[in-house]
Amino acid sequence: MKVTALDVHDVRFPTSRRLDGSDAMNPDPDYSAAYVVLHTDTGAEGHGFCFTIGRGTELCAAAIEAYAPLIVGRELDPADLGEFARRLTHDSHMRWLGPEKGVVHMAAAALINAAFDLAGRVAGKPVWRLLADLPPEQVVDLVDWRYLTDALRPDEALDLLRTARDGRAEREAALLATGYPAYATTPGWLGYTDDKLVRLSREAVAEGFTQIKLKVGSDLDDDIRRMRLAREAVGPDIRIAIDANQRWDVEQAIAWVRALEPYDPWWIEEPTSPDDVLGHAAIRTGVRPVRVATGEHVANRVIFKQMLQADAIDFLQLDACRVSGVTENVAILLLAAKYGVPVCPHAGGVGLCEVVQHLSMFDHLAVSGSTEDRAIEYVDHLHEHFTDPVRVRDGHYLVPDAPGMSAEIKAESRAEYAYPDGPVWRS
Ligand SMILES: [Mg+2]
Repeated sequence: MKVTALDVHDVRFPTSRRLDGSDAMNPDPDYSAAYVVLHTDTGAEGHGFCFTIGRGTELCAAAIEAYAPLIVGRELDPADLGEFARRLTHDSHMRWLGPEKGVVHMAAAALINAAFDLAGRVAGKPVWRLLADLPPEQVVDLVDWRYLTDALRPDEALDLLRTARDGRAEREAALLATGYPAYATTPGWLGYTDDKLVRLSREAVAEGFTQIKLKVGSDLDDDIRRMRLAREAVGPDIRIAIDANQRWDVEQAIAWVRALEPYDPWWIEEPTSPDDVLGHAAIRTGVRPVRVATGEHVANRVIFKQMLQADAIDFLQLDACRVSGVTENVAILLLAAKYGVPVCPHAGGVGLCEVVQHLSMFDHLAVSGSTEDRAIEYVDHLHEHFTDPVRVRDGHYLVPDAPGMSAEIKAESRAEYAYPDGPVWRS
């Protein structure tokens, strides 16, 4: 099939008005999407987006448009999306602006995920199943192996994928019955009052979550008080992760986390710069037995490779839309499996829960083969704007069954929240 047009939308939700999503580095996010629809000559469509928090979404939208000469009027083979992805990420002009990081890479994510959404719709399968049904050789062909082979070679990846075939039918039956584990970030936004924190923490446990997360890093005395209140509210058996959103220097991170250790934090997330591989390794040593997690701002597979090679993280938090979409995330899942590090994807924002669940379910069926110590972040915001919203029950993501990647924002929501001319922004 041939791509006939790209439709690009700048969609912004005014979430800052209620401090939803507030943390130590991002006090007032307006959850937004640079959103693209791929149109084809068969009539089939693919939807994708990258997630942003307000100002600058127009840059991502412009970057998506800048890829159009590589896509519009050209063939798109749903059976060879590795080629499609490399066409974008290897383009020398666009690569100059990264390479493989920042606005151009996020724009590539929107387009590559849209291509997978399209492929799922054409095949009549949700993307988790589309990927899990691929022969191992085709999974390996999705990956851009450049810069990876000192840590993981294609033949090793093939072995991993073949080994993961054992027990797949049992895992799939369990996944379809109970879903994939989730944890709740909704209680812990930094801008919420103590009363709201306690109430939402109790509600999360009552809803079946066994892990919640608190934002930290603005004021140590506040964090000690909030952590104590949350621990009292949920008891000793619920995991409480903490998330500093890159606020600290290395020494400061170690001291701060040690001060919170009496309340038994499960992990410290993004303690420092996402580019600082050695800093993460030092923090990991310094805060034991508290674990270290990061990934939502890790730019690409190369930084993840180094994090794993340096023993810098206990949990890898890939993001569906920051690296270049499904293809690069397949590489990251394979790397994590080789190094035995559990993947607990970043989600929330707008639409990240919808798209990333497909990657974790694929991982469970075809790559790591495990849900042990794994959970997808869950935030209860903005799902009503999607045509195939996530369904969470008893602390688990239920398996999506609609064809595609659950990425489609309803046309009426795209119009209402269009920036700057939609009704929500004009009023
Ligand atoms: Mg985070």
